[in-house]
Amino acid sequence: MTAYPHLLAPLDLGHVTLRNRVLMGSMHTGLEETKDWNRVAEFYAARARGGAGLMVTGGMAPNREGGVFPGAAGLFNEQDIANHRIVTDRVHDAGGLIAMQVLHAGRYAFGPDCVAPSPIKSPISPFAPAELDEAGIEKQIADIVTAAARAREAGYDGVEIMGSEGYFINQFLVRHTNKRQDRWGGPYENRMRLALEVVRRVRAAVGDDFILIYRLSMIDLVPDGSTFDEVIQLAQAVEAAGATIINTGIGWHEARIPTIATSVPRAAFAWVTKKLMGKVGIPVITSNRINTPQVAEDVLASGAADMVSMARPFLADPDFVAKAAAGRADTIAPCIACNQACLDHTFSGKISTCLVNPRACNETEMPITPAENPRRIAVVGAGPAGLAAAVTAAQRGHAVTLFDRDSRLGGQLNMARVIPGKEEFNGLVAWFETMVREHGVTLQLGRAAKAGDLADFDDVIVATGVVSRDPGIPGQDGANVVGYADLLSGRGEAGKRVAIIGAGGIGFDVAEYLVQDGESPTEDLEAWKREWGVGDPAEMPGGLAPEGPAPEPPARQVTLLQRKTERPGKRLGKTTGWIHRATLRMKGVEMVAGVNYERIDAQGLHVSFGEAREKPRLIEADTIVLCAGQMSERSLADALTAAGRQVHVIGGADVAAELDAKRAIDQGVRLAATL
Ligand code: NAP
Ligand code: SF4
Repeated sequence: MTAYPHLLAPLDLGHVTLRNRVLMGSMHTGLEETKDWNRVAEFYAARARGGAGLMVTGGMAPNREGGVFPGAAGLFNEQDIANHRIVTDRVHDAGGLIAMQVLHAGRYAFGPDCVAPSPIKSPISPFAPAELDEAGIEKQIADIVTAAARAREAGYDGVEIMGSEGYFINQFLVRHTNKRQDRWGGPYENRMRLALEVVRRVRAAVGDDFILIYRLSMIDLVPDGSTFDEVIQLAQAVEAAGATIINTGIGWHEARIPTIATSVPRAAFAWVTKKLMGKVGIPVITSNRINTPQVAEDVLASGAADMVSMARPFLADPDFVAKAAAGRADTIAPCIACNQACLDHTFSGKISTCLVNPRACNETEMPITPAENPRRIAVVGAGPAGLAAAVTAAQRGHAVTLFDRDSRLGGQLNMARVIPGKEEFNGLVAWFETMVREHGVTLQLGRAAKAGDLADFDDVIVATGVVSRDPGIPGQDGANVVGYADLLSGRGEAGKRVAIIGAGGIGFDVAEYLVQDGESPTEDLEAWKREWGVGDPAEMPGGLAPEGPAPEPPARQVTLLQRKTERPGKRLGKTTGWIHRATLRMKGVEMVAGVNYERIDAQGLHVSFGEAREKPRLIEADTIVLCAGQMSERSLADALTAAGRQVHVIGGADVAAELDAKRAIDQGVRLAATL
């Protein structure tokens, strides 16, 4: 008997039966644009082998003007169709099913030729769209239909029509972006005409034995968004027009409410999909922040949906479903919803991968093969770099011993996991613990490894991490000063008024830690919804609470400082930095840039501004927390090198300036793959 009876139940769609209730949701990986079709095919085939019931590709442009960016991939000619055939054949050979998403970006298209129902620029694009006339609208529909027909020709099992997230079709649906007075605007019957014409004509073009998923925005999270009555009306009309499945879209890209970030509670929006259950006869999929088999099972068991969509979890682990089915859920590499290697890459024009699994989208580039000559390998440091190297090397058959002076695994990950909104790091550390056991890594914890301990090993990997940078501020030795590591590990504490020196990733984390006492809103869905102003779309159009965000008062008065004159938090993650800045603003944190640190005394922190050290200011504080960055901890590496040993230095011990878990894990896996 499986622990996930709902998740693993087949789903009969009439002409085809899905083997389980798991949809691998659409993700733009950038792989299609590489034109390396073997690499694209292997990415999807790995997920098909791993058991996904149905997969949806990244969004394919129906035409040039509708592409998310100039040059976005699509099925424009016979060669494109032949290329996509490589992917669909490989997926079918692997036992999977795959649908192609047709994505018309409308005014979200990052190009000067973008088109929309009305000429209203979006806040997230520099390009104002041209308003379509009747013939222009007909052309867009025809292009979407052609794309769907070509998907069938290319061997896809279906299409997903992207009708949510504020893209083209969604832009017609709401008054926020549709100001037209013709038959495509005005009353809802007119605003939903485009969506229905698309579904009706796509169905006519592809025939009955083809999956047609319509992704429907169930809570827009923008002003003047859809009411829930409109959502139900649209869903029923989409069903009548020929859709096979309705998938859930949550929030427009321009919404100022986080919808998939790690601080969003797990399955935070399943309740929205649940409101549609029973209103349509076709299966309904729910989505967003579902990242473990148990969360997915609970969502389905609660009757919130017929199927779940997970996207990023399939970057973290292609074998998600197979491992769940085999009763080995603890071996699933968890998506921690950080966006660091997937969405942040997409928005910087890089190919997506995964912080936890650097092999994602690199399946053909980074093979992990059994070691030809198994060796004895010592890894010193059980932070993300050392753990990744140890597990990968052991997986390849090497005899690995992992040393750490701490008595537990995780290194700096143990700092992250105590930050409110970063609870997912608990799962990452737990997964590393499982993998260390699974692959038989020998642990030597609770004592610092010395050069002499490492004499018998063939290879030594030094992943000793970092030490905090000494900012050299007069008075920093006072009793009112604490380093972030001591604070976060419980060895130090903070008073009611706190000044934080350094506004990097850790300064922001520490600020979030200090303003929040008691349960993290990430663990309490209702508190989180209040904090961000998420309301019921049945009561307020678009689901925006009329009172707006209503955060709990801050637990402390916090001032966050940096010497640079740029906006604090500017260098945080592309897709998540705004959330951290908004969180701190909501909690009344004062962010001060361009300071000189003059001295610390019993009153607090004295700063000045500018080269002339003008405008002296006292930041009154009971506690000053040092978050002034890191330096590589290389003493062991230096001692070994001095003794004539060759060592591999990875992670923060290698480069502290860019210390982060993404680079650390990537470096650890890449090194271990070659030893
Ligand atoms: P960081 O991002 O390099 O920030 C260091 C901070 O210290 C900066 O604000 C810097 O600003 C300040 N600083 C540098 N030298 C200083 C000095 N001599 N005196 C006083 N202040 C000084 O380092 P971090 O915050 O320790 O984070 C380390 C890494 O962890 C990050 O790069 C990131 O990759 C990762 N991380 C990321 C996140 C996230 O993105 N959410 C969270 C946690 C950690 P000024 O030079 O302008 O004063
Ligand atoms: Fe998930 Fe982060 Fe990996 Fe993206 S990079 S798939 S958010 S763990």
